[in-house]
Amino acid sequence: MGCYDSFLPSEPMACPLCHKATLREFQSKEFGENLQSFKVGDKVVFSDCLQLIDGKYPVYDSCRECGAWVNAEIHIEGGVFVRIVNLVAVKHVHP
Ligand SMILES: [Zn+2]
Repeated sequence: MGCYDSFLPSEPMACPLCHKATLREFQSKEFGENLQSFKVGDKVVFSDCLQLIDGKYPVYDSCRECGAWVNAEIHIEGGVFVRIVNLVAVKHVHP
């Protein structure tokens, strides 16, 4: 159990590398360690009363199928988590 906040897409998103819909829970430590979980459509207000202003914020997930690390951004509009955008896969290569 890590210390991060979770952002859940409305349905699993496709990995940019293997194209399988494996990405279900994007995480962030950007906002402190609130251990809160937000779904698309939720207003993003943390328990310490911080609210996200409109913009894009970095999150990440990893693909359960190919092991790629996937960086993405959550898009906040009107204080609401509206979508996850700009998915970029990074593959770790073991020597
Ligand atoms: Zn993948």
